[in-house]
Amino acid sequence: MITAHLPSGYVLGRLWPAAPLVLPAALIGGILPDFDMIWFYLIDDRAFHHHHYWVHVPAFWAMIAAIVLPLVTFFARRYLPTATAFFAALLLHICLDTIAGNIMWHWPFTTQFTHLVTIPARWDNWMLNFIPHWVFALELVIWALAALLFLRRP
Ligand SMILES: [Zn+2]
Repeated sequence: MITAHLPSGYVLGRLWPAAPLVLPAALIGGILPDFDMIWFYLIDDRAFHHHHYWVHVPAFWAMIAAIVLPLVTFFARRYLPTATAFFAALLLHICLDTIAGNIMWHWPFTTQFTHLVTIPARWDNWMLNFIPHWVFALELVIWALAALLFLRRP
């Protein structure tokens, strides 16, 4: 997924049960894993694909959620829907990345990557391979759904 993480977080936040700050939490959760691009470009000089970083590893976020969600439940129960929306948006991000990108779903048991669809590399420019593929149409559907929800907001 290239462009639809922010609108997917918006859709999730709009459809989530109302709670304080649920929409910002879903928006942030929807894009947070891709902040690893800063490290990817500025520190590692693109040496590894950014899906190798821990913020794209589902088990990492499961461990964080296993710590944070009980704490929120005990100390700030009012924000539990907000926290669950945040982690749901993170999970949604990683699921959307799994469609055509590699994700380490089986870590810590193996570092093998999983993806659902291989986009054939017919052209040197990866965008020319991606845009005519149905995966890009899925991105457009997510954008359209987010736009529809935005236009119909209360
Ligand atoms: Zn990502």
